[in-house]
Amino acid sequence: MKVNHHALELEQNYLFSEVAKRIRAFQAEQTGRELLKLSIGDVTRPLAGIITDEMKAAAEDMSHAETFHGYGAEQGEAFLRDAISAYYQKRGIQVGAEDIFISDGAKCDLGNLCDLFDADNTVLLPNPVYPVYYDTSIMAGRRVIFAEGSKENGFLPMPDRSMRADLIYLCSPNNPTGAVYSKEQLREWVAYAKENGALILFDAAYEAYIRDPALPHSIFEIEGAETCAIEINSLSKTAGFTGVRCGWTVVPKTLRFDGASLHDMWFRRMATKYNGTSYIIQRAAAKVFTDEGLTAVHRDIDYYMENARIIKAALTKAGIHSVGGENAPYVWMECPDHADSWEFFDRLLHTYGIAGTPGVGFGTAGQGWLRFSSFGTRETVTKAAAYLAAL
Ligand code: PLP
Repeated sequence: MKVNHHALELEQNYLFSEVAKRIRAFQAEQTGRELLKLSIGDVTRPLAGIITDEMKAAAEDMSHAETFHGYGAEQGEAFLRDAISAYYQKRGIQVGAEDIFISDGAKCDLGNLCDLFDADNTVLLPNPVYPVYYDTSIMAGRRVIFAEGSKENGFLPMPDRSMRADLIYLCSPNNPTGAVYSKEQLREWVAYAKENGALILFDAAYEAYIRDPALPHSIFEIEGAETCAIEINSLSKTAGFTGVRCGWTVVPKTLRFDGASLHDMWFRRMATKYNGTSYIIQRAAAKVFTDEGLTAVHRDIDYYMENARIIKAALTKAGIHSVGGENAPYVWMECPDHADSWEFFDRLLHTYGIAGTPGVGFGTAGQGWLRFSSFGTRETVTKAAAYLAAL
């Protein structure tokens, strides 16, 4: 038996374990000192009551022969796919229910989509970005090249015509930088993908955090994307579903590469290796897209975005440059005094008890930057902001 040697090429994912280790050491050394955790990538607000009520009602259905549900529809239940299609339609975006596949989250879909592409494809990734794109590409044996984010381009790298790529991952709003591409910028990415015969994998997991009405929420707002893009989305951050697990991927029927329909391939892949998201969870997910559901989840999104505003305002007061935080739940700050990411992480932790996430953990272009998450409590954020404003 031979193992997949590409899986052994992965670097140890030491970012979050190293952050946790340094926090534990700090707490052991300085017992009783308050930890202000702005490093959380998970949500902290509980699910909205109307969502959990729907779960309870769906669970009740399962206990009666007349309303019991066994295996579900292969692509996901029609009521949920219709609700998601209508959600896009509200913004004037045409995404048909037949192009939507329900899953148990964006991370799984991002990994599973790799089944559709040959190992001999070059992958283009923004740097820095959510590490799952890199790790899943390496595991599949693909060559990876980078589009470099920087202070100068506002961490929104644009295509470089001298580079050829087959698979292009875009994450907007971006984790970790909180930067969001404009429509004009996405048009350029779509044009570049078409010139290269490449596919865009667009991760819209944070679209619900966009405030500026001019910014795009979906790659399908861009003309022509239906022939060169797949969109991955999730209720994890939109509705606090990180522990519930429900996401979706849009694979348009119009998408054809190498003589094959990616929609048909994805359908076959899901039918073979996935047996559906729980009926109870799909019912809860559909509730999110009702008017009352959206009002409820936006209360929590507003809470997190107020946290982001407080963090960003404190940095501005201290004269520190930052990106993000206005249309995303992450604030990306430049470390003062040319400190590197880990040096500054240690300084913040030991001086003020504030934990961020070192930017270099998201890619080499994150060196010298730190990510703050707005998923903490208001109390923690307010205390941390008072220290940050005086940096
Ligand atoms: N995509 C991005 C950009 C993320 O930051 C995350 C989670 O942090 C995910 C996807 C994963 O989402 P899910 O919980 O749906 O797997």
